[in-house]
Amino acid sequence: MTEARTLAALVERLGRMSHALQFSTGLNPSQWEALRYLARANRYSASPTALAKYLGITKGTVSQTIIALESKGLVTRVRGRPDGRSVHLELTDEGRNLLCSDPLRVVNEAGGCMTDAEREATIRGMNKLLDALCQEKGRCGFGVCGDCTHLDSRPCAKGGGEGCFCGLANESLATEDLQKLCVNFQSAP
Ligand code: SF4
Repeated sequence: MTEARTLAALVERLGRMSHALQFSTGLNPSQWEALRYLARANRYSASPTALAKYLGITKGTVSQTIIALESKGLVTRVRGRPDGRSVHLELTDEGRNLLCSDPLRVVNEAGGCMTDAEREATIRGMNKLLDALCQEKGRCGFGVCGDCTHLDSRPCAKGGGEGCFCGLANESLATEDLQKLCVNFQSAP
């Protein structure tokens, strides 16, 4: 591999290309990424603070992103507690429908140029790279229950559903929760 095609150069080039693709349908790249994140975030993670952590931006900047998405009718704020202070973000039907035309789907389609084994190895390698960079930079890595040290299969002390529960929140987890992104995720050491 030549100097110009080192790992860092490839990541930078792919990042620029994917960034440029996402000025689409009146949205910018941060707004598209916020929609993708909210479509996958679990009950502990659909807050403005968690979204800011995921995007790696300040609370002020994420607030502008949320306001823009609200004004387009793609996201709505739901007050989660009686005191009205806890804010939960939800995609509207329009937001979910818009994700069907996600401009980054062309990246997945371009992945068709690889064999299945090459694609799986690339995804594994990129996940490792992302985890290593998050650790290096002290960034929250996010992740899903199946890979989290807080996942427990004992009955939940608070009762409720059968099967898995979150040992951190001490709450039952529905099957559909297990594949959602979590801000409290902690990978095994
Ligand atoms: S088990 Fe881990 S990933 Fe799942 S909800 Fe609990 S903290 Fe989040």
